[in-house]
Amino acid sequence: MRVALFGGTFDPIHRGHLAIAKAAADAFRLDTVLFAPVGRQPLKLEGTPTPFADRLAMVALATASDLRFAVSDLDAPRPDGAPNYTIDTITALQRQMPQSTLFVLVGADSFLNLRHWRQPDQLLTMTDWIVVSRPGFSLEDLSPLKLTPAQYSRIHLLNSVHEDVSATDLRRRLQQEDPCSDLLPPPVLQYIQHHHLY
Ligand code: ATP
Repeated sequence: MRVALFGGTFDPIHRGHLAIAKAAADAFRLDTVLFAPVGRQPLKLEGTPTPFADRLAMVALATASDLRFAVSDLDAPRPDGAPNYTIDTITALQRQMPQSTLFVLVGADSFLNLRHWRQPDQLLTMTDWIVVSRPGFSLEDLSPLKLTPAQYSRIHLLNSVHEDVSATDLRRRLQQEDPCSDLLPPPVLQYIQHHHLY
């Protein structure tokens, strides 16, 4: 099994997330893309995200149409309120799926920030990475990441996605009562309206 972990705040999940998951699944013959909303994102501790249960429910609705997509609560909020670190998530997944080939799927902006993650060198050597293009973030110069040849060999770049959408922008527009129907799957928009989110 070829499995990609796709973590994120998903507040809310949008067309950009779905586009990179589909492109990665197609290009790297993934059996499963595991969407894992994060309880507390260590690099976004300011502000309160939408409750985890709502973000998880929206991810489930958005991913129902592709059999390769699955949802996981592996990164649910911790009982002690501590942030969720990717290093712990990957360690847990590798234990749960020892026979699988594991990838981490990220957008260019997240990957370029990797030196701020917990234990970046270990992260870069313990798994393969699929890094997908995002408008405004260039993947041409990875030198700031100071990759060793072994780390570099585990990075797979995918430059075919050009989705200029962010959850921050979506939230702003939703607050202004713009339904953003071009950027959200219809069941997600219905969920947002029904639960009065944003
Ligand atoms: P926010 O605007 O709230 O920071 P976001 O739109 O960046 O949110 P996240 O849930 O933080 O969404 O992102 C989860 C993952 O998806 C990250 O790896 C991010 O780089 C990637 N991603 C999100 N939107 C895009 C996009 N439009 N193109 C490529 N990658 C994306």
